Amino acid sequence: MHDYNSTSKTFLITGGAGFIGSAVIRYLIQETNHAIINVDKLTYAGNLESLVEVADNDRYHFEQADICDAEAIEQLFDKYSPDAVMHLAAESHVDRSISGPADFIHTNITGTYIMLEEARRHWMALDEKEKTRFRFHHISTDEVYGSLGATGLFTEQTAYDPSSPYSASKASSDHLVRAWHRTYGLPVVLTNCSNNYGPYQFPEKLIPLIILNALEGKPLPIYGAGDQIRDWLYVDDHARALYKVVTEGLVGETYNIGGNNEKTNLEVVNTLCGILDERVPEHPAGIKHYADLITYVDDRPGHDQRYAIDASKIMQDLDWQPDETFETGMRKTVNWYLDNQQWCQRVMDGSYRRERLGLIQETNS
Ligand code: NAD
Repeated sequence: MHDYNSTSKTFLITGGAGFIGSAVIRYLIQETNHAIINVDKLTYAGNLESLVEVADNDRYHFEQADICDAEAIEQLFDKYSPDAVMHLAAESHVDRSISGPADFIHTNITGTYIMLEEARRHWMALDEKEKTRFRFHHISTDEVYGSLGATGLFTEQTAYDPSSPYSASKASSDHLVRAWHRTYGLPVVLTNCSNNYGPYQFPEKLIPLIILNALEGKPLPIYGAGDQIRDWLYVDDHARALYKVVTEGLVGETYNIGGNNEKTNLEVVNTLCGILDERVPEHPAGIKHYADLITYVDDRPGHDQRYAIDASKIMQDLDWQPDETFETGMRKTVNWYLDNQQWCQRVMDGSYRRERLGLIQETNS
């Protein structure tokens, strides 16, 4: 372990205006004394309103930049000389990757290559002590491992077998990150995490989509029979895990992160509907239970059947475990969306109004 926890360091975080990146920044500002450089292009998925709690803090700096713009990224490394990079910026929605893969290839693969090259250039110029301490942390997904059958868990040794353009692009970027370690010695760490949920998630993903549609009495779309299984993790538990890995993880290592909460999509939707029945008993016209709004739609092409994470390595080696159970996390999430409908209204601009049926619908990530 190095001395990140006792002294103030500079963290350059890409994608900090997104769902997970904003949770990481809120955590770092509130729980540590580090300085944060948030580098984000502000695509449709990025929203600075997710950072209002910390935006006025002296240790927080925002830079609007595209990770595919090498010159801009080079200037930011020179300006801030970060001690660590946490690279989260990505195109992240599977359905969008099916209807338009180009942005995923560009941002997730070329963008990661540019981040690696600029990080390497910066790292090469550091003195030996700083070089040893520097970290490049790539934040990735369990979807790189493909689909599981009824049994088994993804471990850090599971072979990559991605199904969608999104997961293939993340698999590619993971390979690049490992190659920059093996070839150039760049001190990297990687994490592959299961589906996240919680506050500030863009309302195209399953959980906010279901909550907001239910409140408006709109159909709750479920792919196929709703029997696909995902392993759910509350986003603040992920943020804590990421900080553990970037500060205490071993260089070159990969850590799987998961909540040990395997649920079918139908179970997730029914849980949300049950909480809403209690919290908002005035149902929209024509229904008695929010679950009455469930509507089955054609399955997503290449839809993986089951993801499940073996997180024993991070639990044992880095002493991390989730604080939230599925029940407590879901309740917190529903409460947050009920209390923050203005945030939801604001982030839903003309490009996305939860109305697009077909490929753009439902499901997380
Ligand atoms: P998100 O879509 O909510 O946010 C992505 C952020 O990246 C946005 O703020 C966006 O503006 C920014 N961005 C996109 N392209 C950019 C570019 N070219 N240059 C600079 N910024 C750019 O995504 P998320 O759900 O917060 O996921 C963050 C990371 O975590 C991603 O790398 C994703 O693959 C990974 N991940 C997500 C999940 C999940 O369940 N959401 C699970 C595991 C891993």
